[in-house]
Order: sequence, then C-alpha cells, then structure tokens
Amino acid sequence: MGYLQKNFQLKNRIFLSPPHLNQEAQTFLEQAISSNFIAPVGPMLDEFEHTLCKYNLSPHCVALNSATSAIHLSLVLLGVQENDFVITQTHTHIGGVNPIVYCGATPVFVDSEAETWNMSPEWLEKAIIDCQQKGNLPKAIIPVHLYGMPAQIEQILHIANRYNIPVIEDAAESLGSTYKGKKTGTFGDLGVFSFNGNKIITTSGGGALVSQDEDLIKKARFLATQAREAAIHYQHSEIGYNYRLSNVLAGIGRGQMEVLPKRIEQRRSVFNQYKTYFEKVNQKGFHIEFQEEGEGMFSNRWLTAILVDPSKNKGITSETIRLELEKDNIESRPLWKPMHMQPVFSDMPFYGNGTSERLFELGLCLPSGSNMSEEDFDRIKAALDLIFVA
Ligand SMILES: *Cc1c(COP(=O)(O)O)cnc(C)c1O
Repeated sequence: MGYLQKNFQLKNRIFLSPPHLNQEAQTFLEQAISSNFIAPVGPMLDEFEHTLCKYNLSPHCVALNSATSAIHLSLVLLGVQENDFVITQTHTHIGGVNPIVYCGATPVFVDSEAETWNMSPEWLEKAIIDCQQKGNLPKAIIPVHLYGMPAQIEQILHIANRYNIPVIEDAAESLGSTYKGKKTGTFGDLGVFSFNGNKIITTSGGGALVSQDEDLIKKARFLATQAREAAIHYQHSEIGYNYRLSNVLAGIGRGQMEVLPKRIEQRRSVFNQYKTYFEKVNQKGFHIEFQEEGEGMFSNRWLTAILVDPSKNKGITSETIRLELEKDNIESRPLWKPMHMQPVFSDMPFYGNGTSERLFELGLCLPSGSNMSEEDFDRIKAALDLIFVA
C-alpha cells in the first residue's frame, strides 16, 4: 500500500529499457494459445526460428529460454569441461560468464579497448599466449557486442583462427547490429541472442543460438530437450537440459520480429537526440563522450551510454547525473561492472590495463526505450539542464 501510494504521487517512471509490445505480438500470442500448443514445441516456435534465420541470414537456429542457456549449450557443444580456460571480455553482463563456471572451467577476463568498449584484440592475444605457456590453450573465446556496438570482430576472429580457438559471439544486446554489412552473431562458430524483457525485442524471457553448422544446432536442440532420443519410452544416453523456449512465448517473439527494423530506427533516434543535446552542452566547456561507431560498424543503439570524466566536466560525475534524473523518477544505470572486479570472480585471471575499470567509473546508461515519448525526452532534458545549463 505504501509503495503504491508513493508511486501514485510520483510522475510516471521513465525506465532504462522497458518492453515495447506491438499488435502483431499479441495476435501471434493469442494464436499460439488458441492452437493449444502450450508447450516447448509447436508451429509458432518453428516459425520464430525461421524468422530469426531469415533475418540474420544464419542457416540454422534454435530458440531457447535465455541467452544464458544458449551460452551454456555452446560451451557444452565445444566440449568445455573442468580445468579448461574460456576467454571472455570482462566488461559484460554476468549471463555470459556464469555458464563457464557451470562447466567447471575457469573464465579468463580480457579488458576492453577504448573505441568500441568491447574486447581488446591486443589483450586477447596476450591472454591466449599466457594460457598457452601454462600448457592450457583456451577452449573458446566469447566476445560481446555491448549496448549494441559491434566489437572489433574481424581482428578477434583473425587471432582466434591463428590459434585455432572457436568463437562464441555474445550478441545478446546487438540483434540487428552489423559489421561491414554482416549481422553480429553470425561471425563466430556460434552466436547467441537474448529476448529478455529489457532487450531491443522481447519474448518476456528467451534466447536463441545460431550457427552455420547444422550439426551443432541439431545437437543443441537435442541437448535442450533433456537429450531425449527418438524412442517412445524416453531413452537417454547423455546428460541434457530443459532449455527450450515455450511455443506461447515464441508467438510474442514472432510478432516482435516484424517491428525490429522500426525498433532499431527508434533506438538510433534516441541516441541521436542525446547526441544533439550533449553536443550543445559540450560547446559550453563540457566534455561528454559517447560510444562511437568505428569504420564499418552499425549499432542497433540498444542503450545510449555516455562517459563523464569529472576532470573534464567541472567536477560533474555520472553519479551527479544519475541522482538528478532519479529525483524526477527517471532511471539510469552505471555501465556493467567489470567481471574481474566482482567478488565472485576476484580470483580469476585478468589481462588488461584498466580501460574497463575507467568505463565503469565514468559511464552511465541513459533511458533508451523505443517507446520513449517526446514528453519523456523533455523531462530528461529538463533534469539534465539543471546540471549543465543552470
Ligand atoms: C542480457 C544479457 C545476457 C543474458 O541474457 P538472458 O537472456 O537474460 O539470459 C548475456 N549477455 C549479455 C551481454 C546480456 O546483455
């Protein structure tokens, strides 16, 4: 009661990245329900997978209940097990890292590079060489396209190929982003997407695994359904998982796919509005920095993030901005705290020079929903004006 009353008095909260459903999502959802395929199999699930394949130009795809499951299955498919090393970028969401530990392997964290904020190819190679010298060449590399920005994927693949290490692309945040015209998630041996409630499109919770390799996806589908073999009596010779997406939720996903290009346009427009605003602010002697698209990169701009260095901004910090926005019930959030700084991973190896630590210290994600209204943006600007114009 107290909570409701409090919220009633406040202006509507502007969220960082709320779900944005469309009529088609509701129509397909209702179709799935009325067909009575209320299960992790069914025609809607098949259609959703086809749609994803067609969109990403990836020949094979399996829809799963989360991106975390998709990463886990990828590692299982690549035979990752106890005492193995798996390299990932330290600046990321923990959903891409926990599955390494589920396999009994050790995550090896690599720093970001300043341009894309994603995996640094130089630190990647240093980490590989060091693991190799310990006689334990990493079993997989997991680069991430954070906030929608493509990583330096060509350089990363080049290094991975040189050492013959498979790549799992964590494209959970970057559905629709491209590098030199090719979709992120389709460069690696395996690619992972998320349809969690806060991502650019959603199934409420869900994920997908894509690959050029039909056998890998066939095996993933098998492992995701309890490794059940083709026998009436439920035959099992391997350990499996219950990781499939529900046919009902696939209906939402299929509907959401119809508006994905529009959602990307809307998120990019949000970014451009912030950019225009802060360019004016910067003319007044401030220095707000953005995550910039390098050559050949196209970001879906899932989240707009800024860097606020107090030494270049008259002492203003990202926390100054976050608190000012919060006063008007506007949500913003620091960048992902690097994994090597997380208590749970404090003993894991890390290769870097502090770029990701600096990003965490200075960075702030701003409200970036595709359903943000002009009034919402006016409220955000009014709050920012109190800091930068007053
Ligand atoms: C959201 C996210 C995940 C986890 O996705 P789920 O579908 O919630 O399991 C993994 N990696 C990154 C980079 C993410 O942003």
